[in-house]
Amino acid sequence: MSKRVRVRFAPSPTGPLHMGGVRTALYNYLFAKKQGGDFLLRIEDTDENRFVPGAMEYILESLKWCGIEPNEGQGYGGDKGPYIQSERKEMYRPFAEQLVQNGAAYYAFDTADDLETMREKAKQMGMPNWQYNAVTRSSMKNSLSLSKEEVEKRLAAGEPYTIRMKMPRNQDIKFEDIIRGWITVNTNNLDDKVLFKESGMPTYHLANIVDDHLMEITHVIRGEEWLPSAPLHVLLYEGFGWRDHNLRTCH
Ligand code: GLU
Repeated sequence: MSKRVRVRFAPSPTGPLHMGGVRTALYNYLFAKKQGGDFLLRIEDTDENRFVPGAMEYILESLKWCGIEPNEGQGYGGDKGPYIQSERKEMYRPFAEQLVQNGAAYYAFDTADDLETMREKAKQMGMPNWQYNAVTRSSMKNSLSLSKEEVEKRLAAGEPYTIRMKMPRNQDIKFEDIIRGWITVNTNNLDDKVLFKESGMPTYHLANIVDDHLMEITHVIRGEEWLPSAPLHVLLYEGFGWRDHNLRTCH
């Protein structure tokens, strides 16, 4: 028997719901209805700087007004909650640590000043788009460039750190999007994204993948502006060893 279809609308409360969001919610809703599955509402509020008070309430009200109502999620209940990521905050660290254990991520101790200095230096050398990546990470302060003892010392001393994704060098990531077909992206075009912040909050990429996994989402239907995130997510699934996942994307 095939798995029950579970889709989600996962807006960030950064402002009012716009038509693009309504469209995404509608596609998810219709797909769930047609397949006799579940349509979830998950609030992705991990970016503290972009949080707008009242935005979540506005989103919930708008969906109700449009008649596009989830049957599970924030404001609707369900057994996979909480459905607001800030309320799930404590759950993400072990997942980030797991990626470090699996060699898919690493601790980075660089301060905001270190990063700024590096960007400035690169700019002066005629490289305005400096990135933390497979090439530059060896000259930064992280658990791949520092000795094991040094890393342990810093962690034990409670030094602030972020956890970054270890983007492989020159690897083609291939995945099949239901609408766009096969997509190939070379990892040389991707940087070592921060997955877990100094504040103890995950970033979008980590929280989104962990929650899709824990909430047993089967299809990701979202706007095409999220297509560039998909290869990162494929790598994260692999990093967790969740290779057998059934997740399909529609961008
Ligand atoms: N939180 C993202 C947004 O604001 C959702 C992306 C996704 O659906 O994966 O639109």
